[in-house]
Amino acid sequence: MGIIAAKFGGSSLADAAQFKKVKGILLANPDRRYAVPSAPGKRFKDDTKVTDLLYQCYRKVEKGEDMQEVFSVIEQRYREIVFELGLDIDIDGLLDQTCADIRRVATPDFAASRGEYLNGVILSAYLGWDFIDPRGYIKFDRQGVFAEEWTNELLGEELKKHEHAVIPGFYGAVPNGEVRTFSRGGSDITGAVVARAAGASLYENWTDVSGFLMADPRIVDNPREIRYITYAELRELSYMGATVLHEESIFPVHKAGIPTNIRNTNDPSHPGTMITDRRQDSGGIITGIAGHKNFSLISIEKAMLNSEKGFCRRVLSVLEDFDISIEHMPTGIDTVSVVVADSEIVNRKSEIIHRIRELCQPDHIDITGGIALIATVGMGMVRSPGTAARLFGGLQRAGVNVRMIDQGSSELNIIVGVDTQDFEKAVRAIYEAFNEPA
Ligand code: ASP
Repeated sequence: MGIIAAKFGGSSLADAAQFKKVKGILLANPDRRYAVPSAPGKRFKDDTKVTDLLYQCYRKVEKGEDMQEVFSVIEQRYREIVFELGLDIDIDGLLDQTCADIRRVATPDFAASRGEYLNGVILSAYLGWDFIDPRGYIKFDRQGVFAEEWTNELLGEELKKHEHAVIPGFYGAVPNGEVRTFSRGGSDITGAVVARAAGASLYENWTDVSGFLMADPRIVDNPREIRYITYAELRELSYMGATVLHEESIFPVHKAGIPTNIRNTNDPSHPGTMITDRRQDSGGIITGIAGHKNFSLISIEKAMLNSEKGFCRRVLSVLEDFDISIEHMPTGIDTVSVVVADSEIVNRKSEIIHRIRELCQPDHIDITGGIALIATVGMGMVRSPGTAARLFGGLQRAGVNVRMIDQGSSELNIIVGVDTQDFEKAVRAIYEAFNEPA
């Protein structure tokens, strides 16, 4: 078929039993040639991820305190994995070296990176695959910004030399060799970067769920699974709070036209969710629903606004001066509303109103908090008349008052703003409107 790059999340490599599943998965398909491991994650609900323990170690070193007590919890986890897998590697030597290195280098990124590093060393020994230290190939510039094209060249050249390899996730290095990590959850990005550099035909992201669901299962009972989704749809949904993949991991593979398959290490026969450039099936009208709370609506009215040039620009310039980023901006003939996150305007409301009054002389302006936004996303909307009627019909039947509507011109989504206390009810109503029993 082509090369597959497979990334395994922390819970997929949390203990020896999980390592065994991962080996089974990798060996089941000879196309799986490159594996990207995370650090050991949680084995049970209240467990602590190794990455979090490593950050704790760093904080101890920073304060000049002894980190041994925390580090010994990490040691225990790796020793157990190596022992239960029956591996012949000098884990004590590796752990002593790691402990000394964390004390010596004393940066949070270096400390955190050791979780993936050690898991990578163990996984490569367990599989008998080559080990590639990302320090030499995943590159950040001097400012710490990921150097995507440079990385792609370096890593692409290196991967050609290895039939099979393990490349730890989450970290790389700046030009002087100092270790840098991506933001939390960043092994997803490494996986995507490896897939692109390898010229893979598929990026598999193995985690502990069988892909995406149409809605948050804490709100909707047993929501349907999403079999296919496009990168554009996923971006809309994850922006609104649906999180399975690190947001930035979409770009390298999307750019290279490589599909991503979300799979479940604990249920490997499940096909999971396939993320592609184009829609793969005729599917339903909508793909998913996501949303979150804590937004405010700045509503501005002014007679004859439609003929006044530069009005919107002036409103936005005020927000820019306050360093506020905006979410949406639905407009009417004589009204403009701007949706912003509550956190952006907290304690500054009267100043903002004052400044907009000064610069734009509106007839009326107010700021209403307590708004929740819900995005209903789906490529299928473009060719389906009546989508909006269905959505608003559902909301009406549930007695939800809609405070704001915004439909992107791509017809990929419809966003509605509702009162926070109606959020869950509205999500359920929209879900039901599109999943009514036939
Ligand atoms: N281990 C890192 C974290 O916990 C990176 C990852 O798992 O993707 O954030």
